[in-house]
Amino acid sequence: MNILVINCGSSSLKFQLIDAQTEQLAAKGLCERIGIEGSRIVYTPAGGVKEIKEAPMANHTDAIRYVLEALTNEKTGVVKSLDEIGAVGHRLVHGGEKFAGSTVITDEVIQAIEECNDLAPLHNPANLIGISACKELMPNTPMAGIFDTAFHQTMPKKAYLYGIPYEYYEKYRIRRYGFHGTSHSYVSKRAAEVLGRNYEDLKIIVCHLGNGASVSAVMNGKCVDTSMGMTPLEGLIMGTRSGDIDPAIIEFIAHKENKTIDEVMAILNKKSGVLGLSDNLSSDFRDLEDAYPQGNVRAVEAMDCFAYRVAKYIGAYAAAMNGVDVICFTAGVGENSSFTRELICNNYLGYLGVKLDDEANQKRGEDITISTPDSKTTVMVIPTNEELAIARETYRLTRQ
Ligand code: AMP
Repeated sequence: MNILVINCGSSSLKFQLIDAQTEQLAAKGLCERIGIEGSRIVYTPAGGVKEIKEAPMANHTDAIRYVLEALTNEKTGVVKSLDEIGAVGHRLVHGGEKFAGSTVITDEVIQAIEECNDLAPLHNPANLIGISACKELMPNTPMAGIFDTAFHQTMPKKAYLYGIPYEYYEKYRIRRYGFHGTSHSYVSKRAAEVLGRNYEDLKIIVCHLGNGASVSAVMNGKCVDTSMGMTPLEGLIMGTRSGDIDPAIIEFIAHKENKTIDEVMAILNKKSGVLGLSDNLSSDFRDLEDAYPQGNVRAVEAMDCFAYRVAKYIGAYAAAMNGVDVICFTAGVGENSSFTRELICNNYLGYLGVKLDDEANQKRGEDITISTPDSKTTVMVIPTNEELAIARETYRLTRQ
Protein backbone atom coordinates (compact mmCIF):
# COMPACT_ATOMS: atom_id res chain seq x y z
CA MET A 1 0.00 0.00 0.00
CA ASN A 2 1.38 3.41 -1.02
CA ILE A 3 1.26 6.16 1.60
CA LEU A 4 1.44 9.81 0.61
CA VAL A 5 3.22 11.71 3.37
CA ILE A 6 2.46 15.43 3.45
CA ASN A 7 4.25 18.13 5.43
CA CYS A 8 2.39 21.37 4.86
CA GLY A 9 3.89 24.76 5.80
CA SER A 10 2.35 28.18 5.30
CA SER A 11 3.78 28.63 1.78
CA SER A 12 5.38 25.24 1.10
CA LEU A 13 4.42 21.59 0.94
CA LYS A 14 6.84 18.67 1.10
CA PHE A 15 5.71 15.22 0.03
CA GLN A 16 6.92 11.65 -0.24
CA LEU A 17 5.21 8.56 -1.60
CA ILE A 18 6.32 5.48 0.33
CA ASP A 19 5.40 1.83 -0.18
CA ALA A 20 4.37 0.82 3.34
CA GLN A 21 5.14 -2.88 2.88
CA THR A 22 8.65 -2.55 1.44
CA GLU A 23 9.29 0.84 3.10
CA GLN A 24 10.82 1.99 -0.19
CA LEU A 25 10.51 5.58 -1.35
CA ALA A 26 8.62 5.83 -4.69
CA ALA A 27 8.92 9.60 -5.21
CA LYS A 28 9.44 12.81 -3.31
CA GLY A 29 9.21 16.52 -3.86
CA LEU A 30 8.32 19.96 -2.75
CA CYS A 31 5.95 22.77 -3.72
CA GLU A 32 7.37 26.19 -2.97
CA ARG A 33 6.04 29.75 -2.86
CA ILE A 34 2.40 28.65 -2.65
CA GLY A 35 0.19 31.74 -2.96
CA ILE A 36 3.20 33.83 -3.95
CA GLU A 37 4.47 34.75 -7.41
CA GLY A 38 7.02 32.28 -8.80
CA SER A 39 5.54 29.11 -7.28
CA ARG A 40 7.04 25.85 -8.48
CA ILE A 41 7.07 22.11 -7.95
CA VAL A 42 10.22 20.06 -7.53
CA TYR A 43 9.59 16.36 -8.18
CA THR A 44 11.96 13.39 -8.07
CA PRO A 45 10.82 9.82 -8.78
CA ALA A 46 13.00 7.23 -7.01
CA GLY A 47 16.01 6.47 -9.21
CA GLY A 48 14.85 9.12 -11.69
CA VAL A 49 15.74 12.64 -12.63
CA LYS A 50 14.75 15.67 -10.56
CA GLU A 51 12.26 17.93 -12.37
CA ILE A 52 11.64 21.55 -11.50
CA LYS A 53 8.52 23.10 -13.01
CA GLU A 54 7.11 26.61 -12.66
CA ALA A 55 3.47 26.11 -11.72
CA PRO A 56 0.96 28.73 -10.62
CA MET A 57 -0.39 27.76 -7.18
CA ALA A 58 -2.88 30.14 -5.66
CA ASN A 59 -3.36 27.86 -2.67
CA HIS A 60 -2.55 24.45 -1.18
CA THR A 61 -5.34 22.73 -3.12
CA ASP A 62 -3.59 23.79 -6.33
CA ALA A 63 -0.29 22.51 -4.92
CA ILE A 64 -1.72 19.09 -4.06
CA ARG A 65 -3.32 18.94 -7.49
CA TYR A 66 0.18 19.35 -9.02
CA VAL A 67 1.58 16.71 -6.65
CA LEU A 68 -1.08 14.20 -7.66
CA GLU A 69 -0.57 15.04 -11.32
CA ALA A 70 3.19 14.46 -10.97
CA LEU A 71 2.71 11.14 -9.18
CA THR A 72 0.28 9.86 -11.84
CA ASN A 73 1.99 11.45 -14.87
CA GLU A 74 2.18 9.01 -17.79
CA LYS A 75 5.91 9.43 -18.36
CA THR A 76 7.47 10.27 -14.99
CA GLY A 77 4.76 9.23 -12.55
CA VAL A 78 5.13 6.28 -10.18
CA VAL A 79 1.48 5.17 -9.91
CA LYS A 80 -1.15 4.64 -12.60
CA SER A 81 -4.03 6.27 -10.77
CA LEU A 82 -4.94 7.81 -7.43
CA ASP A 83 -6.51 4.46 -6.46
CA GLU A 84 -2.95 3.25 -5.88
CA ILE A 85 -2.52 5.72 -3.03
CA GLY A 86 -3.95 3.87 -0.04
CA ALA A 87 -3.74 6.61 2.58
CA VAL A 88 -2.35 10.06 3.33
CA GLY A 89 -0.24 10.77 6.42
CA HIS A 90 -0.05 14.39 7.56
CA ARG A 91 2.75 15.76 9.70
CA LEU A 92 0.97 17.92 12.25
CA VAL A 93 2.79 20.29 14.57
CA HIS A 94 0.73 20.81 17.70
CA GLY A 95 -1.67 18.33 19.25
CA GLY A 96 -1.71 20.05 22.65
CA GLU A 97 -2.76 17.71 25.45
CA LYS A 98 -5.48 16.22 23.29
CA PHE A 99 -3.25 13.92 21.27
CA ALA A 100 -0.78 11.56 22.95
CA GLY A 101 -0.47 9.53 19.76
CA SER A 102 -1.25 9.52 16.06
CA THR A 103 -4.85 9.41 14.92
CA VAL A 104 -7.10 8.75 11.96
CA ILE A 105 -8.39 12.12 10.77
CA THR A 106 -12.12 12.64 11.20
CA ASP A 107 -14.24 15.79 11.40
CA GLU A 108 -13.98 15.65 15.22
CA VAL A 109 -10.18 15.38 14.99
CA ILE A 110 -10.05 18.37 12.64
CA GLN A 111 -12.04 20.36 15.19
CA ALA A 112 -9.74 19.27 18.01
CA ILE A 113 -6.67 20.33 15.99
CA GLU A 114 -8.33 23.70 15.35
CA GLU A 115 -8.71 24.08 19.09
CA CYS A 116 -4.89 23.78 19.38
CA ASN A 117 -4.34 26.64 16.87
CA ASP A 118 -3.67 29.12 19.68
CA LEU A 119 -0.62 27.07 20.68
CA ALA A 120 0.88 27.00 17.17
CA PRO A 121 -0.66 29.92 15.26
CA LEU A 122 1.81 29.68 12.37
CA HIS A 123 1.91 25.92 11.88
CA ASN A 124 -1.44 24.34 12.75
CA PRO A 125 -3.59 26.41 10.34
CA ALA A 126 -1.21 25.50 7.49
CA ASN A 127 -1.42 21.81 8.45
CA LEU A 128 -5.21 22.04 8.45
CA ILE A 129 -5.21 23.60 4.98
CA GLY A 130 -3.26 20.56 3.77
CA ILE A 131 -5.83 18.24 5.30
CA SER A 132 -8.79 20.02 3.71
CA ALA A 133 -7.04 20.15 0.31
CA CYS A 134 -6.48 16.36 0.38
CA LYS A 135 -10.05 15.82 1.54
CA GLU A 136 -11.30 17.81 -1.44
CA LEU A 137 -9.15 16.03 -4.03
CA MET A 138 -9.14 12.50 -2.57
CA PRO A 139 -12.42 12.31 -0.63
CA ASN A 140 -12.36 8.52 -0.26
CA THR A 141 -8.73 8.12 0.81
CA PRO A 142 -8.23 7.68 4.57
CA MET A 143 -5.93 10.14 6.31
CA ALA A 144 -3.91 10.00 9.51
CA GLY A 145 -2.35 12.81 11.56
CA ILE A 146 1.05 12.38 13.21
CA PHE A 147 1.81 15.08 15.77
CA ASP A 148 5.22 16.56 16.55
CA THR A 149 4.15 16.89 20.17
CA ALA A 150 2.63 13.43 20.75
CA PHE A 151 5.78 11.47 21.72
CA HIS A 152 6.47 13.95 24.53
CA GLN A 153 3.05 13.55 26.15
CA THR A 154 4.51 10.91 28.50
CA MET A 155 6.58 13.58 30.31
CA PRO A 156 5.78 13.79 34.01
CA LYS A 157 4.24 16.96 35.40
CA LYS A 158 7.50 17.98 37.10
CA ALA A 159 9.10 18.14 33.65
CA TYR A 160 6.34 19.96 31.82
CA LEU A 161 5.12 22.57 34.32
CA TYR A 162 6.71 26.02 34.30
CA GLY A 163 7.32 27.94 37.51
CA ILE A 164 4.51 30.42 36.88
CA PRO A 165 1.05 30.73 38.50
CA TYR A 166 -0.75 27.39 38.16
CA GLU A 167 -3.90 29.13 36.95
CA TYR A 168 -2.15 29.78 33.59
CA TYR A 169 -1.75 26.06 33.10
CA GLU A 170 -5.39 25.52 34.04
CA LYS A 171 -6.74 28.38 31.92
CA TYR A 172 -4.49 28.28 28.87
CA ARG A 173 -2.60 24.97 29.09
CA ILE A 174 0.71 26.83 29.25
CA ARG A 175 3.27 24.05 29.74
CA ARG A 176 6.14 22.29 28.00
CA TYR A 177 4.96 20.27 24.99
CA GLY A 178 8.15 19.63 23.02
CA PHE A 179 8.52 19.16 19.26
CA HIS A 180 10.39 16.94 16.75
CA GLY A 181 8.61 14.07 18.56
CA THR A 182 8.40 11.85 15.47
CA SER A 183 12.17 12.15 15.07
CA HIS A 184 12.97 11.57 18.76
CA SER A 185 10.71 8.52 18.77
CA TYR A 186 12.12 7.07 15.52
CA VAL A 187 15.77 7.65 16.46
CA SER A 188 15.53 6.29 20.01
CA LYS A 189 13.73 3.14 18.84
CA ARG A 190 16.15 2.65 15.98
CA ALA A 191 19.14 3.00 18.32
CA ALA A 192 17.83 0.18 20.51
CA GLU A 193 17.17 -1.93 17.41
CA VAL A 194 20.67 -1.36 15.98
CA LEU A 195 22.24 -2.21 19.34
CA GLY A 196 20.06 -5.32 19.65
CA ARG A 197 18.86 -4.08 23.05
CA ASN A 198 15.41 -3.90 24.57
CA TYR A 199 14.01 -0.35 24.08
CA GLU A 200 12.26 -0.57 27.45
CA ASP A 201 15.57 -1.21 29.27
CA LEU A 202 17.51 1.82 28.01
CA LYS A 203 18.19 5.40 29.03
CA ILE A 204 18.65 7.31 25.77
CA ILE A 205 19.39 10.97 25.06
CA VAL A 206 18.53 12.06 21.51
CA CYS A 207 20.15 15.23 20.15
CA HIS A 208 18.14 16.35 17.10
CA LEU A 209 20.49 19.04 15.78
CA GLY A 210 19.17 20.70 12.64
CA ASN A 211 18.22 24.24 11.81
CA GLY A 212 15.67 23.72 14.58
CA ALA A 213 17.24 21.70 17.38
CA SER A 214 16.09 19.86 20.48
CA VAL A 215 17.27 17.23 22.96
CA SER A 216 15.09 14.62 24.61
CA ALA A 217 15.46 12.12 27.44
CA VAL A 218 13.89 8.73 26.72
CA MET A 219 13.79 6.34 29.66
CA ASN A 220 12.43 2.80 29.40
CA GLY A 221 10.80 3.63 26.05
CA LYS A 222 9.07 6.82 27.22
CA CYS A 223 9.99 10.47 26.80
CA VAL A 224 10.59 11.98 30.25
CA ASP A 225 11.86 15.43 29.24
CA THR A 226 12.65 17.54 26.20
CA SER A 227 14.26 20.91 25.58
CA MET A 228 11.66 22.66 23.42
CA GLY A 229 8.78 24.06 25.39
CA MET A 230 5.32 25.45 24.78
CA THR A 231 6.79 26.64 21.48
CA PRO A 232 9.92 25.57 19.55
CA LEU A 233 11.76 28.68 20.81
CA GLU A 234 12.96 27.16 24.09
CA GLY A 235 16.05 25.07 24.69
CA LEU A 236 19.11 24.84 22.47
CA ILE A 237 20.69 27.70 20.56
CA MET A 238 19.48 26.99 17.01
CA GLY A 239 20.06 28.26 13.47
CA THR A 240 18.07 31.45 14.00
CA ARG A 241 16.25 30.84 17.32
CA SER A 242 17.69 31.99 20.63
CA GLY A 243 16.73 28.98 22.74
CA ASP A 244 16.74 29.60 26.53
CA ILE A 245 17.15 33.21 27.60
CA ASP A 246 16.21 35.19 30.70
CA PRO A 247 12.59 36.18 29.95
CA ALA A 248 13.30 39.68 31.31
CA ILE A 249 15.51 40.30 28.24
CA ILE A 250 12.37 40.65 26.11
CA GLU A 251 11.15 43.69 28.03
CA PHE A 252 14.68 45.10 28.21
CA ILE A 253 15.22 44.97 24.42
CA ALA A 254 11.70 46.30 23.78
CA HIS A 255 12.45 49.37 25.95
CA LYS A 256 15.97 50.02 24.73
CA GLU A 257 15.23 49.51 21.03
CA ASN A 258 11.69 50.94 21.11
CA LYS A 259 10.21 47.72 19.75
CA THR A 260 6.91 45.91 20.29
CA ILE A 261 6.73 42.46 21.89
CA ASP A 262 5.93 41.02 18.44
CA GLU A 263 9.06 42.62 16.99
CA VAL A 264 11.26 41.28 19.78
CA MET A 265 9.74 37.81 19.36
CA ALA A 266 10.54 37.97 15.63
CA ILE A 267 14.17 38.78 16.52
CA LEU A 268 14.33 35.83 18.93
CA ASN A 269 12.86 33.47 16.33
CA LYS A 270 14.48 34.66 13.12
CA LYS A 271 17.58 36.73 13.87
CA SER A 272 19.09 35.01 16.88
CA GLY A 273 20.74 31.63 17.41
CA VAL A 274 24.06 31.06 15.65
CA LEU A 275 23.00 33.59 12.99
CA GLY A 276 22.76 36.35 15.59
CA LEU A 277 25.76 35.19 17.60
CA SER A 278 27.94 35.08 14.47
CA ASP A 279 26.95 38.69 13.71
CA ASN A 280 24.88 37.54 10.71
CA LEU A 281 27.68 35.46 9.20
CA SER A 282 25.30 32.52 8.70
CA SER A 283 22.62 30.32 10.23
CA ASP A 284 24.10 27.40 8.27
CA PHE A 285 26.54 25.35 10.33
CA ARG A 286 28.57 24.52 7.22
CA ASP A 287 29.53 28.19 6.85
CA LEU A 288 30.43 28.46 10.54
CA GLU A 289 32.49 25.29 10.37
CA ASP A 290 34.41 26.69 7.41
CA ALA A 291 35.07 29.96 9.25
CA TYR A 292 36.01 28.26 12.56
CA PRO A 293 39.53 27.06 11.62
CA GLN A 294 40.28 30.45 10.07
CA GLY A 295 39.90 31.87 13.56
CA ASN A 296 36.78 33.92 12.78
CA VAL A 297 35.96 34.91 16.37
CA ARG A 298 32.22 35.28 15.84
CA ALA A 299 32.01 31.83 14.19
CA VAL A 300 34.15 30.24 16.93
CA GLU A 301 32.01 31.75 19.69
CA ALA A 302 28.73 30.83 17.96
CA MET A 303 29.80 27.18 17.56
CA ASP A 304 31.20 27.02 21.09
CA CYS A 305 27.98 28.44 22.58
CA PHE A 306 25.95 25.93 20.53
CA ALA A 307 28.05 22.91 21.58
CA TYR A 308 28.15 24.03 25.22
CA ARG A 309 24.35 24.33 25.36
CA VAL A 310 23.89 20.84 23.87
CA ALA A 311 26.36 19.45 26.43
CA LYS A 312 24.50 21.18 29.29
CA TYR A 313 21.23 19.55 28.21
CA ILE A 314 22.91 16.14 27.97
CA GLY A 315 24.13 16.66 31.55
CA ALA A 316 20.67 17.73 32.69
CA TYR A 317 19.03 14.69 31.14
CA ALA A 318 21.65 12.28 32.48
CA ALA A 319 20.65 13.71 35.88
CA ALA A 320 16.91 13.46 35.10
CA MET A 321 17.29 9.75 34.25
CA ASN A 322 19.96 9.06 36.88
CA GLY A 323 22.27 7.87 34.13
CA VAL A 324 22.46 7.45 30.38
CA ASP A 325 23.25 4.39 28.25
CA VAL A 326 23.11 5.86 24.76
CA ILE A 327 23.52 9.34 23.27
CA CYS A 328 22.22 9.70 19.68
CA PHE A 329 22.95 12.45 17.19
CA THR A 330 20.56 13.12 14.34
CA ALA A 331 19.23 15.73 11.80
CA GLY A 332 21.26 17.99 9.47
CA VAL A 333 24.03 18.97 11.87
CA GLY A 334 23.87 15.90 14.13
CA GLU A 335 24.18 13.50 11.19
CA ASN A 336 26.68 15.38 9.06
CA SER A 337 28.96 17.40 11.28
CA SER A 338 31.67 15.23 12.82
CA PHE A 339 33.25 18.48 14.00
CA THR A 340 30.20 19.48 16.08
CA ARG A 341 29.94 15.99 17.58
CA GLU A 342 33.62 16.20 18.48
CA LEU A 343 33.18 19.62 20.11
CA ILE A 344 30.36 18.25 22.26
CA CYS A 345 31.76 14.81 23.14
CA ASN A 346 35.47 15.54 23.54
CA ASN A 347 35.10 18.81 25.44
CA TYR A 348 32.30 18.00 27.83
CA LEU A 349 31.30 14.34 28.12
CA GLY A 350 34.40 12.79 29.68
CA TYR A 351 32.63 12.45 33.05
CA LEU A 352 30.10 10.12 31.37
CA GLY A 353 33.00 7.96 30.21
CA VAL A 354 32.42 8.93 26.57
CA LYS A 355 35.27 7.98 24.24
CA LEU A 356 34.81 8.85 20.56
CA ASP A 357 36.10 6.55 17.83
CA ASP A 358 37.66 9.19 15.56
CA GLU A 359 37.44 7.07 12.42
CA ALA A 360 33.81 6.04 12.92
CA ASN A 361 32.94 9.66 13.68
CA GLN A 362 33.96 10.64 10.13
CA LYS A 363 31.41 8.31 8.48
CA ARG A 364 28.11 9.55 7.10
CA GLY A 365 24.66 8.43 6.10
CA GLU A 366 24.34 5.24 8.11
CA ASP A 367 23.26 4.06 11.56
CA ILE A 368 26.58 3.83 13.33
CA THR A 369 28.18 3.69 16.76
CA ILE A 370 30.83 6.40 16.96
CA SER A 371 32.14 5.61 20.45
CA THR A 372 34.87 3.07 21.16
CA PRO A 373 33.96 -0.40 22.51
CA ASP A 374 35.26 0.61 25.98
CA SER A 375 33.27 3.87 26.07
CA LYS A 376 31.07 3.77 29.19
CA THR A 377 28.25 5.54 27.34
CA THR A 378 27.49 4.51 23.75
CA VAL A 379 27.37 7.36 21.25
CA MET A 380 25.58 6.84 17.94
CA VAL A 381 24.63 8.64 14.75
CA ILE A 382 21.15 7.62 13.60
CA PRO A 383 19.91 9.41 10.47
CA THR A 384 16.35 10.48 11.20
CA ASN A 385 13.51 9.57 8.86
CA GLU A 386 10.36 11.36 9.92
CA GLU A 387 8.58 10.58 6.66
CA LEU A 388 9.10 6.84 7.07
CA ALA A 389 7.89 7.06 10.68
CA ILE A 390 4.77 8.93 9.49
CA ALA A 391 4.18 6.35 6.72
CA ARG A 392 4.49 3.50 9.25
CA GLU A 393 2.01 5.12 11.63
CA THR A 394 -0.41 5.95 8.81
CA TYR A 395 -0.25 2.36 7.56
CA ARG A 396 -0.82 1.00 11.06
CA LEU A 397 -3.85 3.22 11.55
CA THR A 398 -5.51 2.91 8.15
CA ARG A 399 -4.90 -0.58 6.81
CA GLN A 400 -8.06 -2.64 6.68
P1 AMP B 1 17.76 20.10 9.11
O1 AMP B 1 16.99 21.22 9.75
O2 AMP B 1 17.75 18.85 9.90
O3 AMP B 1 17.39 19.90 7.66
O4 AMP B 1 19.27 20.58 9.10
C1 AMP B 1 19.68 21.64 8.28
C2 AMP B 1 21.02 22.15 8.74
O5 AMP B 1 21.99 21.10 8.76
C3 AMP B 1 21.59 23.18 7.80
O6 AMP B 1 21.17 24.47 8.13
C4 AMP B 1 23.08 23.03 8.01
O7 AMP B 1 23.45 24.00 8.96
C5 AMP B 1 23.27 21.68 8.62
N1 AMP B 1 24.14 20.82 7.82
C6 AMP B 1 23.83 20.09 6.72
N2 AMP B 1 24.91 19.43 6.25
C7 AMP B 1 25.95 19.77 7.06
C8 AMP B 1 27.34 19.42 7.10
N3 AMP B 1 27.88 18.61 6.20
N4 AMP B 1 28.09 19.96 8.08
C9 AMP B 1 27.55 20.79 8.99
N5 AMP B 1 26.25 21.13 9.00
C10 AMP B 1 25.45 20.65 8.06
